[in-house]
Amino acid sequence: MAQLPDNPDALYGDMIMEHYRSPRHRARLAAADVETEEFNPFCGDRVRLQLQLARPGSIAGVSAVAEGCSIIQASASLLADSVQGRTVEGAADLSQLFRDLMQGRPLPPIARAELGDLEALEIVRQYPVRIKCALLPWVALEEGLRRLR
Ligand code: ZN
Repeated sequence: MAQLPDNPDALYGDMIMEHYRSPRHRARLAAADVETEEFNPFCGDRVRLQLQLARPGSIAGVSAVAEGCSIIQASASLLADSVQGRTVEGAADLSQLFRDLMQGRPLPPIARAELGDLEALEIVRQYPVRIKCALLPWVALEEGLRRLR
């Protein structure tokens, strides 16, 4: 297992650091259909996710606000970018693909293409204690999607 870097900036790569420094979709939604929150007491990470649906069942609005390490903040921002405009089912499928990526399951090229920018988070696998940080926003997403069904 690799040492946790004190200054991870260089190691995590540009995509992650860019989303960490300039997170997307942080504005609170006034009319969210569902709001979920997840907390990891071990590292103090916290994420609050809101989803708003448009007809017919596509995710029209996403708000994701994360506090904690760079990985949870980048993952929340990338999640928000990635699920906006998807259907509830499509977002659930993407979430499963992201879990597969983080768990090191072999993914065909078409699945990697579907993940898009999220693939940048694969580097977190080199720092196993941070995998939970990357997944926490997705736990919040899955809970939200469950409530929307
Ligand atoms: Zn963390």
